[in-house]
Amino acid sequence: MQYKIHTLDLHFLQENSAIASFLIETSDGLVLIESGPETTFNYLVQEIEKIGFDWKEIKHLFLSHIHFDHAGAAWKLAQNGTRVYVHPIGLPHLQNPEKLWNSAAMIYGDDMGRLWGKMEPIDENLLVGVDDGDEIQIGNSSFKAWYTPGHAIHHNAYQLGNVMFTGDAAGVKIENGPVVPPCPPPDINIDLWKSSIQKMKEINPEFIYLTHFGRIDNPQKHFKELELILDDWANWMKPHFDVQASPDEITPKFMEYTKQQLLNAGVSQENVQKYEYANPSWMSVAGLLRYWKLKEQGRI
Ligand SMILES: [Zn+2]
Repeated sequence: MQYKIHTLDLHFLQENSAIASFLIETSDGLVLIESGPETTFNYLVQEIEKIGFDWKEIKHLFLSHIHFDHAGAAWKLAQNGTRVYVHPIGLPHLQNPEKLWNSAAMIYGDDMGRLWGKMEPIDENLLVGVDDGDEIQIGNSSFKAWYTPGHAIHHNAYQLGNVMFTGDAAGVKIENGPVVPPCPPPDINIDLWKSSIQKMKEINPEFIYLTHFGRIDNPQKHFKELELILDDWANWMKPHFDVQASPDEITPKFMEYTKQQLLNAGVSQENVQKYEYANPSWMSVAGLLRYWKLKEQGRI
């Protein structure tokens, strides 16, 4: 069956190809995958209007995970009665977002409003927890959740026939650039992430859709490249962790390392900036250091 899938560019920070939402036409109305942040809600509305629909027609919203760039505007849709599907670990945070907001504020500080806008609670009657293997039938379309932790402990990918919406579990790839793994704190777990990649390989979708950004036509090749660079980044960080270097010292070195990787792969200066918007490299320093710390302590 051929699905009508529209990739919506949310023009995050006025930039193209950084954050996407996906609109799917079913026989029982519109389904949205990812809401994007609250700050891009007007773009979401406009992009939906451009293809001839009204956002208020969206009855169902699937979230890959609860990070703000994926789920920040979910409450706006819920205020209109949209049902919101999310992994059960993420669900209470959408019902009561204060803790989520405060922990993100520890990372982003004063920049929270500019980047993410605001987040309000979602009525529990509209929240549906979906876990590994759960299938939600909407009209002629069946959405199957696959639990895919590693980037976040509350991460699902969603399969629709031969395609899969992979959130951040299949990394970030802007236009023809290389795939990179976003590694923000606090959940990064390289081992779990690799098992999630293995799982997606076995499901073997024909196409995958990345929230950052868009459709990938050769998922198997993409997954292999992701595994390699995930190890590469983790292994780059390990010796810095071993000598207990401070993040202030590591961050500029890691930013330079990842920037060079992109440039060497032929990415333009302009698109290096887009990669930074979609996946700020300084955040991956904190995430990877935390991973090695928990690993050393035997906690993961
Ligand atoms: Zn994320």
